[in-house]
Amino acid sequence: MVRITAFFLVIVSWLSAQEAVTLQLKWLHQFQFAGYYAALEKGFYEEEGLHVTIRARDTLSNNIDQVIAGEAQYGVSDSILFLYRAKGEPVVIVSPIFQHSPSVVLTLKSSGIDSPYKLENKKLVFYPRDTDGFGVLAMLKHLDVRPQLIREKSLNSVALLKEGKVDALSAYATNEPFYFLEEGVDVNILNPSNYGFAMYGDMLFTNAFEAKNHPDRVERFRRASLKGWEYALKHKEEIVRLIHKKYAPHKSLEHLRFEADATEQMIGQKITPLGTLDKGRLEYTLKTYAEHGLIDNNVPVDEYVFTTFKEMVESNAPILTQEELAYLAKKRTLNVCIQPDWMPFEKNEQGKHVGMSADYMAVFGRQLDISSRLVETSSWAETLAFAREKKCDIIPFIVDTPERRDFLRFTQPYLSAPLVLVTSINEIFVDALHQVSGKKVGIVGGYAINEMLKANYPKIKFIEVESLDRGFELVRKGELFGFVNSLPVAGYQIQQKYFGQLKIGTKLDEFLSLSVGVRDDEPILAAILDKAIAMTSSNEHQEIFNRWVSVSYERGSDYALVLWWAIGLSSVFGVVVFLVVKSNRALNSEIEGRKIVEQKLTRYIDLVDKHIIVSSTDLRGVITEASTKFCEISGYSKEELIGKKHNLIKDPNTPKEFYEQMWRDLIEKDYWSGEVHNRSKNGTYYWVRASISSIFDLQGNKIGYTAIRQNITSEKLLEEMSIKDELTGAFNRRFFNESVPRMINSAKRDKTVVTFAIFDVDYFKPYNDTYGHQAGDKALKKIVEAVAGCLGRSDDTLYRLGGEEFGVFYRGLDISQSKDFLEKMRMAIEELRIKHEGNKASPYITASFGAVIKKANEISSLDALYKEADDLLYEAKEAGRNKVRSNVPDGVS
Ligand code: GH3
Ligand code: MG
Ligand code: MG
Repeated sequence: MVRITAFFLVIVSWLSAQEAVTLQLKWLHQFQFAGYYAALEKGFYEEEGLHVTIRARDTLSNNIDQVIAGEAQYGVSDSILFLYRAKGEPVVIVSPIFQHSPSVVLTLKSSGIDSPYKLENKKLVFYPRDTDGFGVLAMLKHLDVRPQLIREKSLNSVALLKEGKVDALSAYATNEPFYFLEEGVDVNILNPSNYGFAMYGDMLFTNAFEAKNHPDRVERFRRASLKGWEYALKHKEEIVRLIHKKYAPHKSLEHLRFEADATEQMIGQKITPLGTLDKGRLEYTLKTYAEHGLIDNNVPVDEYVFTTFKEMVESNAPILTQEELAYLAKKRTLNVCIQPDWMPFEKNEQGKHVGMSADYMAVFGRQLDISSRLVETSSWAETLAFAREKKCDIIPFIVDTPERRDFLRFTQPYLSAPLVLVTSINEIFVDALHQVSGKKVGIVGGYAINEMLKANYPKIKFIEVESLDRGFELVRKGELFGFVNSLPVAGYQIQQKYFGQLKIGTKLDEFLSLSVGVRDDEPILAAILDKAIAMTSSNEHQEIFNRWVSVSYERGSDYALVLWWAIGLSSVFGVVVFLVVKSNRALNSEIEGRKIVEQKLTRYIDLVDKHIIVSSTDLRGVITEASTKFCEISGYSKEELIGKKHNLIKDPNTPKEFYEQMWRDLIEKDYWSGEVHNRSKNGTYYWVRASISSIFDLQGNKIGYTAIRQNITSEKLLEEMSIKDELTGAFNRRFFNESVPRMINSAKRDKTVVTFAIFDVDYFKPYNDTYGHQAGDKALKKIVEAVAGCLGRSDDTLYRLGGEEFGVFYRGLDISQSKDFLEKMRMAIEELRIKHEGNKASPYITASFGAVIKKANEISSLDALYKEADDLLYEAKEAGRNKVRSNVPDGVS
């Protein structure tokens, strides 16, 4: 017994001496990952004290996200990793492995598609998630070639190409060509590197948490992995056999040998030593991407690479002590109490913690490897009570006060926001709250800042109100002159509920400084969170800020400083709240006072200038102001912009109507927001989401417009790459607009009959009302399955046009066949037998169809086609629903 225990102890201590980490591969087991298997099997990892699990790709998951989320510490990715880094995702390159990217496009030699230019309109099977093939995308974008991307790559895709069901296949030059070779099928390999996109292939990467907290382990992992690669390349046959035996028995030895030879070329070890990272090359690649609008190139190259990233972190990031790590390992989950309704700071949204503090919790969680759980409270008072009773471990946003120190510890403040006075839109602007006297101003009862405000502004009658809502409401009703709140909250509330009724009348000198409040009986937690705050990069702060708050300004004439703050809500950047601090003539004598105000404003203006894309124009649209960020993205200098109109950066392909509508809105509603495609000076394009508002002088005369913009180029790119509707898997509306005109055009040439039908679920609103929205969603999925089941041929396409409305497009059937086919689809839906009491046409869910069947050359435009089908759908509805109506009367065919 004693001996067994002793034996166990030895085993246990040996196990714990080995640090366990996981490597997430980017594909299934194959020679592509030979070095890692070699490092494992030859004990190189073990020598470094690492117990490594190598996980094959689960094609249903995004392998890069898995590393970001910490499901694995290490991963393999190609240059698409740059897109993630540029979007601020915490990924760090540890070492390139392949000096050349094997990411290519294959076509059949017999197809004649021997250049990427010939891929226009062709069906290209591409990776479903945004994890691979960036080089291919970059090339296509660069050449402005638009294939139809079918984002369904799987093992069957090779067969699809062989059988000619698709035209092209994204592939690894090291792998897929073999499947064709072995059957003697000739293929063309279209390689992005021949078109100026020569980039790194497979790279070993890690997440920022690992890089920050375990830099030594990253070093060891890298060393062992490179040693493994050296070995694998020297002993290819041995590793081929190992892989065949242990990892990928389904791959033949010949296939693995083919792969081994091809992989060796990609690694290029004979020319460049294994693992070499050339920063100049990286910089060049990033620049090329940025030029093509693929990334927003403002993440310094040092942050991409582990060695420099590590140096940056070492200089400022404290690492957790053993004791702190042990505490965290035991704790696992932090109970969090928040103010339940305090957007954009935080909110309890049906049990879910959202807002800026939720984003911070996610950052801390990633850094500390700990999760958090919202303990629901119904008010701020209850949150404080829960904190006293230790029902929660932390309050993420709270002001540090002496009274609260009785039951909480505080971290350093990590977010500060100016306080502002909200007034009715009709009040005049004031320079400072000091100028207001004898007026009633609301503050929320129980707030930490109240005593300070009362002391600093003795001339004001502060009235405590019980909630945020109440305060805004009383100002709206005119019962209070103003209401003091923090700028982000005031901005958010005005934009959500009081646009056009309330405004920000002035900014106070006081700030709200928020810390994490931590239960005082676990002081170690406060220390840990302080470190987490210190480890949070300015980029991460910036990102959270940008997600929820944005700022813009306008420096008007007549000495007036106008500060605009715009509050952006998650990705929906909309809005405009503004704070006008006008230097009023009465103040002219108080030069001192104004100087201070100006200094502060200058600081904000500086911030805005550097980070926000802003410009102002006069009433005719002539540019009067442009921020540095605007110059940066447009490529023009301030001098070049001022005095010109925005059509300098207009994409000539944007329809005239787009701008006409914009101007109409601006003139009528004083506000416009939307997405705009712009062209920079050097000819590259970028997307922005813009909010434009009218500016007024103090007499209320409109004097011009200010536009605030957010760069959404990379977001757009991802959106562009997606062609399917998330819920149902049918093609989306965007793809409909893009692909149907092409299909019509190609049908025109062979004069075939095409059918386009719109169908709409009958009485679907009552269905949702009776069975619930989720049941509704489920029904939509079933309907898509049923209809897709009828559509057998590769040209048949099903689109979700919106809500419960779908489009079907097919060709090659004559009129009577097409009518039968429409009938078949209608029946397939009813035959699902999804009970629907509120359907007057049937006991089950049904749909009505409006169909246009005609020769392609008779179709004048997509719009006309759509309208005709839509009118027929209306007829089908009128006729009692669960019917098909087409443009061809019965009896004619
Ligand atoms: P009609 O027979 O005239 O088409 O009646 P209807 O109730 O289907 O028509 P209407 O267009 O007024 O209502 C469509 C409803 O479909 C509105 C909405 O409740 C529901 N709906 C739209 N999109 C979705 C969705 O994605 N999921 C669910 N569950 N319901 C949706
Ligand atoms: Mg309907
Ligand atoms: Mg409808």
